[in-house]
Amino acid sequence: MAGKAQPASPIGADAVSALLSVTGLSVRFRMRQGRHIHAVTEVSFDLAAGECLALVGESGCGKSVLAAALLGLLPGNAQVRGAALLPQGPDLLSADETTMAKAVRGRQVGLVPQSPAAHLTPVRTVRAQLEETVRELTGVRRAEARTAALEAAERAAFPADHLDRHPHQLSGGLAQRAATALALVGDAPLLIADEPTTGLDRDLVEHTVDELRRHAEDGRGLLMITHDLAAAERIADRVAVMYAGRVVEIASAADFFGPPGPRHPYARGLLNALPEREFTPIPGNPPELGALPDGCAFAPRCTRVAKACRTDTPALVEGTACHFPLERTAPAGAGAGATAGMTGPRVGGGGPR
Ligand code: SF4
Repeated sequence: MAGKAQPASPIGADAVSALLSVTGLSVRFRMRQGRHIHAVTEVSFDLAAGECLALVGESGCGKSVLAAALLGLLPGNAQVRGAALLPQGPDLLSADETTMAKAVRGRQVGLVPQSPAAHLTPVRTVRAQLEETVRELTGVRRAEARTAALEAAERAAFPADHLDRHPHQLSGGLAQRAATALALVGDAPLLIADEPTTGLDRDLVEHTVDELRRHAEDGRGLLMITHDLAAAERIADRVAVMYAGRVVEIASAADFFGPPGPRHPYARGLLNALPEREFTPIPGNPPELGALPDGCAFAPRCTRVAKACRTDTPALVEGTACHFPLERTAPAGAGAGATAGMTGPRVGGGGPR
């Protein structure tokens, strides 16, 4: 990738106590005819021990690519830069595949995958996969592995009488729970859960996210990637919002979901789209990651857009990447362009229209 830019400082936990410190993470996919897809751009954040950070945003905003980058699971045409450091581990972005396979995945970083059916081994029962994973990660004997596998299934609300089924015999929700059980085995210090509530009804959503939250206790950490804001509100300590590959807002969950509410117009729009809030969708669609506009990528959809927004990419300042952020004191649920004020423009060229 041309021209290494100076990465922004990680946002959040004290870098010394951080369980994960991500700095300047960018991912480009090299396509045919010299095209590039800018999937993730200059993302920086810290995750503290005991913390749950929810990474939210619409489909295709780069959340899952970011998770795949942290786990070394990107395809061969990906170009990655930046750093992602564990306290005692390697840089996740530059470690070789042998290190990732033998020392990182499952041991230091667990994954609840977005596509559990593809993640499970099709020719083996759920029980066999759980017991094998327990033995591999903990070194216990067969009898103890059987007990530990049962416990992991129970934690993920996977029914014991389905343990001897093969993945193709499971519904989407059961496959999701089997994958969650596998990810909980070994109690990895960092757990990345990529859309862990897909296919689950609301009761199971709550059970699953509560169990994931428990995983983050005792000094472990949870990075939960989700478009389910209700699930994020239930368990997150902080929320990071991604749009077009960038983090556009990062805030404490209390500030994000309650007053004062998000300051970035897109983040505010995501909340206002919820049925229990204004039920007002954000107009338009996200941009193609291979054809991002100059300036702020949200400009074509933003009610506060001004001239500067179309030329200057806003930096993440005090947790918000916007030239005209919404007023901190605006009540939650207020319309993005209607009642909320602004803190004063961060660029010249006049205010929002
Ligand atoms: S006000 Fe400008 S910088 Fe802020 S989100 Fe809207 S278009 Fe982007």
